[in-house]
Amino acid sequence: MELNICYLYPDVLNLYGDGGNIICLQRRLQWRGITSNVTRAGIGDKVSLADYDLMFIGGGQDFEQEVLLEDLHRGKASEILAAVEDGKTFLTICGGYQMMGNYYQTHEGVRCDFIGAVDLYTVGSPTRMIGNYKYRCTAGNGGSLVVGFENHSGKTYLGDGVSPLGTVEAGYGNNGEDGTEGVRYRNVFGTYSHGPVLPKNPEFCDYILQTALERRYGSAQLEPLGDREEAYAHDIMAKRIGAK
Ligand code: GLN
Repeated sequence: MELNICYLYPDVLNLYGDGGNIICLQRRLQWRGITSNVTRAGIGDKVSLADYDLMFIGGGQDFEQEVLLEDLHRGKASEILAAVEDGKTFLTICGGYQMMGNYYQTHEGVRCDFIGAVDLYTVGSPTRMIGNYKYRCTAGNGGSLVVGFENHSGKTYLGDGVSPLGTVEAGYGNNGEDGTEGVRYRNVFGTYSHGPVLPKNPEFCDYILQTALERRYGSAQLEPLGDREEAYAHDIMAKRIGAK
């Protein structure tokens, strides 16, 4: 078995070491004897996402999101739209998550018309939502508790046709108002969690890998890994992040 992974915009969207999620995905496959092939596709690179099983997009500042707009609409946006509708798996973080929606209106009033692959929009706020936080994925998204770090001024609001990834237990999440965090639409996972998020949240990582493997092979069973260190790091943060 193998998974082909495309790391989109590693050159501009890699805030807080989000690229470390790629290493985590590869290791957790390698430890199970599953091959992973990673391709990096930055600004100016042509890419056919039909060749990939799992796409990753990290976070970035407002400036970087504006920088990649032209490239996005020169071809990658239509590739992403088609891959989403084809049930391909995406993990998108913060700015990369916002980019999957209809638009992002920065606090300075700059409107970035994004991909429109997921029915959501984001509006910049005067205060930044920063800090360690935790949220519970819904049962349909594996049900695990995710611990992470968020830093965004954008408030994201989900449209009727999409569900949140989870509910906030401590911190802000999508907008600090409705208790939702992230999004799940088809096999698109969006979260505000930087970090990188996956190493400290092995259950969440495996759920994403399982989704991609099932889309490619119809069914797949990931054998459990020890995860002693991962669980220790996760549980320490879960305790440290009290309810805010
Ligand atoms: N620029 C976006 C915001 O501030 C995303 C930030 C990020 O990716 N951390 O909301």
